[in-house]
Amino acid sequence: MTTAMGTLVVERVETMQRVCRQTRWNARLGLVPTMGALHEGHLSLIRAARRECDVVAVSVFVNPAQFGRNEDFERYPRTFEADCALLEREGVDMVFAPSSAEMYPRGMGQVMVDVPEVGARLDGRARQGHFRGVATVVAKLLHIVGPDAAFFGQKDAAQVAVLKAMVAELNFPVRMVVCPTVRESDGLAMSSRNRNLSAEERKQALGLWHALVAVHALVDGGMVDAGRLRRELVGALQAAPGVEMEYAEIVSAETLLPLEEVRDGALVAVAARVGSTRLIDNIVLPGRAR
Ligand code: AMP
Repeated sequence: MTTAMGTLVVERVETMQRVCRQTRWNARLGLVPTMGALHEGHLSLIRAARRECDVVAVSVFVNPAQFGRNEDFERYPRTFEADCALLEREGVDMVFAPSSAEMYPRGMGQVMVDVPEVGARLDGRARQGHFRGVATVVAKLLHIVGPDAAFFGQKDAAQVAVLKAMVAELNFPVRMVVCPTVRESDGLAMSSRNRNLSAEERKQALGLWHALVAVHALVDGGMVDAGRLRRELVGALQAAPGVEMEYAEIVSAETLLPLEEVRDGALVAVAARVGSTRLIDNIVLPGRAR
């Protein structure tokens, strides 16, 4: 199906493969994987893809394989019509929106891509099996689309580490582009799940950002001991009203393993529940000038 403004909407894997094969012949193809409920964060990835590629494909698929049994798969916001209108306005060439049956014709879990070490850290520890679902769906999308470049958000820093490891180890011929986190004017990281916050919870959600900013200020002031910084981070989250901390870690952005010092840069990553909504955020500390 083609919309009025020329965006091609594809639901079938076979069709997407055929169209992408033809496209790759004489154009640089960019892929932006999403779960829809699009916001400015997603749009920043799409704009980066448009700058770097001739043709841009966006996938919209709420991937059941990355949700645990008691997680929010059913509650996850779905706004496909509005998403398509936004994607048209952004000049996206192709939208790939398969059903679950189309993506997993044998049922989920028949073949999975596992990144056992990096994928078991941060969200991978908190959400068992989550990154197996993410790696599997992204591997499938990379096979189906065969993009020259794929675009991801720094907002999901652990996901970036897992996918970079997967792409390197499985030799996907794709360039991984990571785009900065887009925030609301008060600092809250944009997220599809923010739609599920009440007005009160929306205010409380800022506790994650404030905790990260506090750590950044301590590092600016010269503190490099990751243990001390982490205690401050945990303290700030625990003191934030309405914020129920899940994890707060200071780790290597590549391996997601805890650091002792932050002199050479570090990922400061947090996850917390605000009401029944799970939110994540992070900052990357700058490395020493060499
Ligand atoms: P999602 O639809 O939540 O699976 O996200 C799709 C892509 O958009 C992922 O690569 C996310 O990291 C990225 N993304 C989500 N929120 C933001 C944000 N606030 N800033 C930048 N990228 C984002």
